[in-house]
Amino acid sequence: MAGRVVTALRDRALELGPRPEENARWRHWRLATDGEGVAWLLLDRQETRANTLSDQVLVELNSILEDFEIHAPKGLVIRSAKPSGFAFGADVNDLRTMVDPPEIEARLAEANGVFDRLAALPFATVAVIHGQCLGGGLELVLCCDWRIAVGNARLGFPEVLLGLHPGLGGTVRATRLVDPIQAMTMMLTGKSVDARKARRLGLVDVVTEERHVSAAVGDAVAGKLKRRRKGLLPRVAALRPGRRLAARRMRAETAKKARREHYPAPYALIDLWERHGGDEKAMRSAEMASFGKLLQSDTSRNLVRAFFLREGLKKNAGEPREVGHVHVVGAGTMGGEIAAWCAWQGLLVSLSDVDPAPIGKAIARARALYDRIGKDRAKTRDALDRLIPDTGGHGVRRADVVIEAAPEKLDLKQQIYESLEARMKLDAILATNTSSIPLESLAGGLKRPQRFVGLHFFNPVSRMQLVEVVAHGKAADDALAAARAFVGRIDRLAAPVKSAPGFLVNRALMPYLVEALVLLDEGEKPETVDAAAERFGMAMGPLELADQVGLDVCLEVADVLREGLDQPIPPAPDWLRRKVTDRELGRKTGKGLYSWKDGKPAKSRRAPQPGRDMADRLILPMLNACVACLREGVVADADTLDAAMIFGSGFAPFRGGPMQYARARGVDDIRQALARLAERHGERFATDPGWDELS
Ligand code: NAD
Repeated sequence: MAGRVVTALRDRALELGPRPEENARWRHWRLATDGEGVAWLLLDRQETRANTLSDQVLVELNSILEDFEIHAPKGLVIRSAKPSGFAFGADVNDLRTMVDPPEIEARLAEANGVFDRLAALPFATVAVIHGQCLGGGLELVLCCDWRIAVGNARLGFPEVLLGLHPGLGGTVRATRLVDPIQAMTMMLTGKSVDARKARRLGLVDVVTEERHVSAAVGDAVAGKLKRRRKGLLPRVAALRPGRRLAARRMRAETAKKARREHYPAPYALIDLWERHGGDEKAMRSAEMASFGKLLQSDTSRNLVRAFFLREGLKKNAGEPREVGHVHVVGAGTMGGEIAAWCAWQGLLVSLSDVDPAPIGKAIARARALYDRIGKDRAKTRDALDRLIPDTGGHGVRRADVVIEAAPEKLDLKQQIYESLEARMKLDAILATNTSSIPLESLAGGLKRPQRFVGLHFFNPVSRMQLVEVVAHGKAADDALAAARAFVGRIDRLAAPVKSAPGFLVNRALMPYLVEALVLLDEGEKPETVDAAAERFGMAMGPLELADQVGLDVCLEVADVLREGLDQPIPPAPDWLRRKVTDRELGRKTGKGLYSWKDGKPAKSRRAPQPGRDMADRLILPMLNACVACLREGVVADADTLDAAMIFGSGFAPFRGGPMQYARARGVDDIRQALARLAERHGERFATDPGWDELS
């Protein structure tokens, strides 16, 4: 028994080689040489939980490598001392400071010099990889002679998500080491691969368990590991005609997901490989030039901005708090999604409803979701075990968080609260997922309004990362903090907003959706209207979005906003109300503004192209509403607003959010455009007074 425990503990601890010297010269690296004369170099960046390759980390690495050039060890092992993994890539903070072109060029050349120095060492170099090994981290291990991956390793090139491609020799080394098509796919999609896939690709040489690391290192240094040979096809693909053919296919695939003018990085990467794939020297210098150019692009700057906006929202979660049990009331579209997601995230969840049928359906949907996102039978089984059908609502008494997702009716929700409050723990929070009813009204009859908050999730919860945490006059700070911590606990992003009609995201989206309906009334095709928004960079056009959300939900929110706001919103057309009465609700009933099949709208390819100002007609009313929300304090600041719109509505991330777009285009230009639209189409385009403060 004791022996098993010791083995289990040993499996979990990292094999870090001999004990490093005290009073070491380096802040971020630790160095020790074992009895065989092999140097173990451990990356342990100070004051961070995870390793990133900051400038300082590379400066130190450079000096260490210089020493090795003079006093060569028998071999070198590089690994991370952090449990989270090898390294997450470059420090994104550093990317932000690289502004002017000569400086970018100099810093890139310097960093590349360090990597080349590692690659040129005349003795065996071995990278041991556990956990995340991404971006610059992966480029670093590609400079080693051998790569040993521990079972939990994940390797990937996420640079494209920041509007970049690898810039430290990665495009050259990866396409040389493994099948270039596979390497390009990894770089183009940004998706990481697990250790086994990495082994199949030839990206790592061995996959082993932690307890065998030492032996594997010994084999590598002794030259006993076998190198994987590349097959014939990958070698053909690397030749010029092969590259040309493959590049054409890659461009076509990329074009399905991203336009060149919005996301230049994948196209630049394809160009780079097609042109220089056979010539390493030329490709290295072209890689650096292309990386430098991309780094200065608006797209990359805005994607880096979006990265930090996400970090900002993550911080809203504050200190982690213990959540033992969640109870969800209402097992419909949203309740089912929320419950499934919470269980997937490791929480014990009970799910109740007046009717047992939706609970059964919700659990079947949860299983389908887990199969799709997890592809791991054990994890699916465990999550399903945690998701408890609870027709009697017994879970309420034990829950730390109770989420109500019942139909959007004030009196119904109030009745539900009355029965819940009597059974809930005194310090639990009661959260509503309402999309439109003011929290003040909902809180009217509550005994403990201070523990009541809004948690406004978006559909589908598994894909939409944002949750608006809605405050109202009587909500206690502690309840709001607990709600934000809960959102963080389930790996979603919390945006604090004030209770106001539509909160932030729906309020901003509604004028955009309504304008799309007006365009339909004017005779435009839905495909044309959606194309206008997609060309602007929205993840999805407004009409497809309306169908996705459900036309009934949209109509409800539109009506509430029209009543609750003193801004002119055109009435919903009669034909839309008829569609809702006829249950043509969009995706969920198979027919709405589009016909839906297998979760996709059937779109005609013959619809006319959108006219020049159609995007303005859709987007500017959304910006106008954003400015109104800022002016009214619905959201505290422009960054939170931009973040919420990117992660809650799919607002073009490469534009950095609506307020960043407004700044980049120029506030005056937008005001003039709105004024022209108001003249042509009516008062609904009148500029919000909030623009005055921004000019
Ligand atoms: P839905 O109609 O799909 O589900 C509501 C469920 O509540 C049904 O299963 C119903 O049987 C159940 N229910 C009815 N009365 C109940 C009671 N007294 N006790 C317990 N359960 C009861 O509705 P939905 O779309 O999931 O919306 C739920 C809430 O979430 C609404 O407040 C809505 O505004 C909000 N919301 C919806 C969306 C969306 O996209 N659908 C997005 C965000 C927020």
